[in-house]
Amino acid sequence: MARRKKIYEGKAKILYEGPEPGTIVQYFKDDATAFNAEKRATIEGKGVLNNRLSEFFMKGLGQIGVPTHFIKRLNMREQLVRQVEIIPLEVIVRNFAAGSLSTRLGLAEGTALPRPIVEFCLKDDKLGDPFVSEEHIMAFGWAAQQDLDDMVALALRVNDFMSGVMMAVGIKLVDFKIEIGRVWDNDYQRLIVADEISPDSCRLWDMETGQKLDKDVFRRDLGNLTDAYTEVARRLGVLPSNVTHAAKKPTLIN
Ligand code: 5GP
Repeated sequence: MARRKKIYEGKAKILYEGPEPGTIVQYFKDDATAFNAEKRATIEGKGVLNNRLSEFFMKGLGQIGVPTHFIKRLNMREQLVRQVEIIPLEVIVRNFAAGSLSTRLGLAEGTALPRPIVEFCLKDDKLGDPFVSEEHIMAFGWAAQQDLDDMVALALRVNDFMSGVMMAVGIKLVDFKIEIGRVWDNDYQRLIVADEISPDSCRLWDMETGQKLDKDVFRRDLGNLTDAYTEVARRLGVLPSNVTHAAKKPTLIN
């Protein structure tokens, strides 16, 4: 049997050619990186949890009419997704100050923002994913004005959904990052949510205690990352039955 063709390997995921044209198999690794990959570790079980959690969020978004790349979960570590043309921008939505916003503007972490703030960063590891303005985006042709308007609208819908889902289980959605892709239906272009939505790309704080349940646990050495992600999955009722015995290698499908 032929091995599947690897299309791309990133810091936390591997993409393989899917079984049908226009599909991709997204494999979630256990690797964690921070500070532009200066800090790295393998955290057993992280990929399994993120596969489940991303499935949960993407399916929920689909159910309320927000288009995503998610097709179906294949196994513990893999999901089938639609192939998209990724827009080379990270779209960040913030409800409370934290991380780079706090550093940039001198705001105490946890300060409530007057309204959700949408930011863009250029996806470029060599440059450390720099913050960019809408002017930069249009001048350099990374996206058109209409794309930008659609991206902001999409990101705010994701924010409303994610904030509500997390609040229902006692977790504050501080901020998150999504990636957006273009798909073509004949000559008609649409933007859809792609990549992943997981505690790797969100800040999630327990409402009562303020405990961090996201990748900051790894970035800031605050404890066990798998325990934090398991707690998020447990509260949402999406705990995989056996995290530690997950398949380590990609499996062949069909
Ligand atoms: P900040 O700009 O404060 O570092 O990050 C804002 C939010 O976006 C956080 O939830 C953070 O996890 C997420 N984020 C920003 N850049 C990246 C990235 O390159 N990878 C991932 N997984 N998340 C990111």
